[in-house]
Amino acid sequence: MQGMMMEMPLRIIEILKYAAECHPGAEIVSRRCEGDLHRETYAQAYARSAQLAHGLARLGVSAGDRVATLAWNGYRHFELYYAISGMGAVCHTINPRLSAEQMLYIIQHAGDQVICVDLTFVPILEALAKAHPEEMRLAQTHENGRQIVVMTDRAHMPDSDLDLLCYEELLDGQPETYDWPVLPEDTAAGLCYTSGTTGHPKGALYTHRSTVLHALFLSVTVPRSLHEGARILPVVPMFHVNSWGLPYAAPIVGASLIMPGGALDGASIFDLMESEQVTASWGVPTVWLGLGAEAEKRGAVPSALDQLVIGGSAAPRSMIEFFETRGVDVCHAWGMTEMSPVGTHGQLSHHMKDKPFEEQMVIKSRQGRRVFGVEMKISDEDGKTLPQDGEAVGELYVRGNSVIAGYFNNEEASQEAFDDAGWFGTGDVASIDPDGFLYVQDRAKDLIKSGGEWISSIDLENIAMAHPKVASCAVIAIPHPKWDERPLLVVAPVSPEDPPKLEDIHEMMLEHVAKWQLPDAMECVEALPLTATGKVSKLTLRKRFDGYVLPDAG
Ligand code: AMP
Repeated sequence: MQGMMMEMPLRIIEILKYAAECHPGAEIVSRRCEGDLHRETYAQAYARSAQLAHGLARLGVSAGDRVATLAWNGYRHFELYYAISGMGAVCHTINPRLSAEQMLYIIQHAGDQVICVDLTFVPILEALAKAHPEEMRLAQTHENGRQIVVMTDRAHMPDSDLDLLCYEELLDGQPETYDWPVLPEDTAAGLCYTSGTTGHPKGALYTHRSTVLHALFLSVTVPRSLHEGARILPVVPMFHVNSWGLPYAAPIVGASLIMPGGALDGASIFDLMESEQVTASWGVPTVWLGLGAEAEKRGAVPSALDQLVIGGSAAPRSMIEFFETRGVDVCHAWGMTEMSPVGTHGQLSHHMKDKPFEEQMVIKSRQGRRVFGVEMKISDEDGKTLPQDGEAVGELYVRGNSVIAGYFNNEEASQEAFDDAGWFGTGDVASIDPDGFLYVQDRAKDLIKSGGEWISSIDLENIAMAHPKVASCAVIAIPHPKWDERPLLVVAPVSPEDPPKLEDIHEMMLEHVAKWQLPDAMECVEALPLTATGKVSKLTLRKRFDGYVLPDAG
């Protein structure tokens, strides 16, 4: 029997409308590229998003167009999230840490018509436009190519050879209301690229429905961070899976957002937390290392800080203990770009709260239980589902309303990503215990995660293989105290007496990858270990270099 309830499409703009009407006390505080601190309420952000939508429409943006952002966490970036998706266009967040080659690829692959850029990143676009004028196709008008909007006011517009439009001028004089279209809820709203194991980055194309549902899942899952009156500092960038959904979840619950801009070192984050009385903050382990060092220097943690959500890489137990013993609750979360991104949260279940501290820390260093809305299973190599007994280890698969159904315009990657039953393969190797706690133990995908950003080992290997003195090579992840992991290049030289120089290989790599993606060190071996099928056995190599200390990690 059919139910008899109204059905209204889930729309992202409804989140901001709700916050504007029902959370008048909450605000967005932003450290700006211009050097000052800016404050606005959700009501002001809603009005300015309407002005921005009018401004973008005047530029020629219409439904389905891709509008890119290349920006730090800040109120203008927040307004872009809502205005672009609200008018039916797609907000493509570009990671400024990508190499020029990768960035050019995703701008072209996404088909970005407009790129909105923070002052800090204008030089990146200038360099790209200079090196690749044809591919960048920059133009003053929508019909002729891509337009660039600098996210500042007229007084701060940079001198540039490029034709640049000014964000604040787009808004000037525009109406503060907009007739937001009623879109089907599966309309594309956001686009975020993630590293492929091989080849080019792959795009996750979020819908209004997946984004709103994910924000609701988060709101009920992490109430200690997300509640009315909370003041949340997202260190995780808005170019990294929508800042893990915080720009959507915070306005729903009435939490304020404290946006750090580009100052992400321990001292700057500490100062902002203190002056804005931040209650919760979310980010990757590398950031908390900086905050921890600062807290040690000052002899205290920021005074209002109540919870840290740590994810993106495994949170080390020492880090969890450091903050927990100073009164800050640590929630260790796991997720992926393909999952909007949050999949699990590490809050202890109620019956675990009486356990001794030591035991609690062991549990907290695991990745936690699935959030409502995400299902998980582990499978062996034949695709057989394994028991969730805490013993069996297999590849982790997920499904749910906030998980991708395929990659944007990438048939090949889409075909490989799912099992026969339609579950998405995460490439993580894990166990799940009877309490539902996930324990990520390894990574099947050939990627290295450094400071929350990916490095493709296969890409580095392909480049190094072109060196005439390299017979074969492999790149493996070595644990690093600051960056979590860094790449080590292992080479079997053509002639052991005349091995290649790492500097020469770096030079070759720099043509394709960013500087921070270069291997930290090179080791020569007689031959690389092989698996039964003749592939390089990275497992054996990782064991062989277990305990290896990289040059700057001693
Ligand atoms: P991304 O798509 O960049 O967010 O990266 C997702 C991947 O990061 C996952 O598939 C894991 O390999 C890794 N990851 C994320 N969170 C954690 C965590 N808490 N512990 C271990 N690995 C993690």
